Amino acid sequence: MAIQLFMPAFQIEECLAEIRECLEKGWTGLGYKTIEFEEAWKDYSGHENAHFLSSATAGLHQAVKILKRQYNWRDGDEIITTPITFVSSNHAILYENMVARFADVDQYLCLDPHSVKSRINEKTRAVLFVGYGGSFGQLNEIIEICREYGLKLILDAAHMAGSRVKGKFPGVFDGIDVTVYSFQAVKNLPTADSGMICFKDPEMDAVCRKMTWMGINKDTYARFNKAGNYKWNYDVEFVGYKHHGNSIMAAIGLVQLKYLERDNAYRRQICNWYDDFFAGNDDVKPIPVTYRADCSRHLYAICVPDRDGLIEHLNSLEIYPGVHYTDNTEYEIYAYDHGKCPHAHEVCRHILSLPLHMRLSFDDVRIISGAVNAYTTSMLTLI
Ligand SMILES: *Cc1c(COP(=O)(O)O)cnc(C)c1O
Repeated sequence: MAIQLFMPAFQIEECLAEIRECLEKGWTGLGYKTIEFEEAWKDYSGHENAHFLSSATAGLHQAVKILKRQYNWRDGDEIITTPITFVSSNHAILYENMVARFADVDQYLCLDPHSVKSRINEKTRAVLFVGYGGSFGQLNEIIEICREYGLKLILDAAHMAGSRVKGKFPGVFDGIDVTVYSFQAVKNLPTADSGMICFKDPEMDAVCRKMTWMGINKDTYARFNKAGNYKWNYDVEFVGYKHHGNSIMAAIGLVQLKYLERDNAYRRQICNWYDDFFAGNDDVKPIPVTYRADCSRHLYAICVPDRDGLIEHLNSLEIYPGVHYTDNTEYEIYAYDHGKCPHAHEVCRHILSLPLHMRLSFDDVRIISGAVNAYTTSMLTLI
């Protein structure tokens, strides 16, 4: 049977029971389960604020938008970011007419603090850090740099649901202004599409709640008309968006959250199996992660000499790895920084992500690793 890169595993009966509650109550939209899920996420993660959204892409856009508004950033101001990410991290910067300024990555494929420092100029306002594969990378150093230069820090935690550093979610650390999680279909906590935005500042959380529902402010009338039904009578403060999440997604999220720790533990197990199988093969270099005992392990990425050949070989065996990611400066829209991040550029030609999901067995991992080892060592004997 074919082995896919990602394949979510849902607790089907439990999810259906939660969804059934929404349908029976007649409440599938904003409120109800979305609030329950926000509370459950705050309890679990330690974040003080959490707002449930339609996606992490929407969340990253909101993060940039609300920081820009709060601190009066201008069009053309810059946010330092990584070329090794899903494009939505960087699109979020462009949505707000700002410039994505690319810095190079370190061995964890997270932003390299030295490179970040070298990109800072008078237009720099923030750093957007992606926890690649769930890794913390050198986020502590980035936090220090942001403090020193007065920059804001956005954490794209799309891969980081459940990642901890010394028992704490990295997003709750001092110095991180806003953290965005993804609960998209193949992330560690899968729904179908949704995400969570966690601002440090409760006022920004309040702005975000209005901004993600068309800019509508119900509070003023709610205050004055506690007894009456004045739902239609609201004010509109901003040109907001339709970015909030709904109760059906939250219902699935509430169930999947209960299994996130168990699932992440199994992801770590799979990664340890891969590591063991590749231990003697110098041509397969797993991308290291920080705090591996507490990492969400969204990805198992390796670096090999002949990446494209290996992918073809695996595909011929019905094994379907992925690539996370193409160097974003290869894309037309980000080509203005092409060649500025040599390590990212080089590594992106050699990385692939091996299958990693709940339905994978030890035997699957043995078969995949065997195929990778056979291909890479046969390449060796050819040379
Ligand atoms: C998946 C992903 C996103 C976008 O998440 P959505 O919920 O699909 O919008 C953003 N950044 C990274 C690093 C991702 O992997």
